[in-house]
Amino acid sequence: MSFIKGLRCRECARSYPPKAIFVCEYCFGSLEVDYDYEAIGKRLTREAIEKRPANLWRYRELLPIDGEPAVGFHTGFTPLFRAERLGRALGMKELYIKDDSVCHPTLSFKDRVVSVALSRAKELGFDTVACASTGNLANAVSSLGAIGGLKRFIFIPADLEMGKVVGSLIYHPRLIAVEGNYDEVNRLCAEIAARYHWAFVNINIRPYYAEGSKTYGFEVAEQLGWKTPDHMVVPAASGSLLVKIWKGFKELHKLGLIDKPRTRLYAAQAEGCSPIVAAIREGSDIIKPVKPKTIAKSLAIGNPADGYYASDAIRETGGWGAAVSDPSVVEAMKLLAQTEGIFTETAGGVTLAAARRLIEEKRIPRDESLVVSITGHGLKTQEAVVDHIGKPIRIKPTLDSFEETMKT
Ligand SMILES: *Cc1c(COP(=O)(O)O)cnc(C)c1O
Ligand SMILES: [Zn+2]
Repeated sequence: MSFIKGLRCRECARSYPPKAIFVCEYCFGSLEVDYDYEAIGKRLTREAIEKRPANLWRYRELLPIDGEPAVGFHTGFTPLFRAERLGRALGMKELYIKDDSVCHPTLSFKDRVVSVALSRAKELGFDTVACASTGNLANAVSSLGAIGGLKRFIFIPADLEMGKVVGSLIYHPRLIAVEGNYDEVNRLCAEIAARYHWAFVNINIRPYYAEGSKTYGFEVAEQLGWKTPDHMVVPAASGSLLVKIWKGFKELHKLGLIDKPRTRLYAAQAEGCSPIVAAIREGSDIIKPVKPKTIAKSLAIGNPADGYYASDAIRETGGWGAAVSDPSVVEAMKLLAQTEGIFTETAGGVTLAAARRLIEEKRIPRDESLVVSITGHGLKTQEAVVDHIGKPIRIKPTLDSFEETMKT
């Protein structure tokens, strides 16, 4: 049973059939999935959702597929928990972490978007999927594409971390390392997408792919007892996750599942690639593309596809943004590990460092609730921390040798 009404232009609101298309023919605006909310409202209740299996398909009516999902039966419904020790370190009364560093199967929130994209790609009749990726998307398409029995063409910048490269190759996709940055990889992929009949998850089926990010927001609301937090800090690359968390909250409200969301959303970016944060801080509508230079490679998109919509959502919610230095990212990764036992990747370090900054700047009051969005796992970006965490103590296999170490 399908609740998809069609695709709709985000700019001029023209309608399109729900096929593998992504831009409006009239105004070149991007297309977004529209649903029959009245029909959804008749059957979707809190109780119905709570009885379903603990994966992202528990919100199936609000996801863009017609029939049964093809992949992602173990994806999503990751932990959300009160982070007492980190809260004390930051002087925050009510701090939560939503932890997608343990999302199944490839340890980042990209497993959500890809589960949705590939399920839709199969419905649309594709046998080959592809993507341009900063790393985590490559891992997710490689893995979930294998589960879905799809041919996979994966395009990445040639200088990615080893963990992201190995974490794709193990699934045996066709992995293509392009000598250029993400924005150049993406431009090449747009040309390839025009020539080959493939489902490019972040290009021609992007409207479906992007909807998967809503489930991160749905889960935050459900796991807080059908409430949204006062504040939420979200890492931004293309800006899509932030936009879709907000769309998700608004949908839950439209369906009567939560009160009107009053959450303020904040974008977290690295100083070396912060076009969205720059626009917010300058009060500008224009996203100025930049050439990325940061250790937070998964967020290194200099020309963000949803940058405008992200800054719009941030303004609508009364939020803000923070751009943080690479050393502060490493510090934040260590702080999260040493307080909450979570090893996050550089993107998580960016998010926590940005949250810390926003608290210090008094943008986020210490006595209000805050969710910090952790979106990926640290084993994938070991290069960023390996020189900043000390070394093992090497000894001979004797008691004497061990006791020598006790003296230092
Ligand atoms: C891709 C990614 C993001 C940001 O995603 P966008 O939706 O493009 O803004 C955040 N965190 C991690 C770990 C990612 O891989
Ligand atoms: Zn249009």
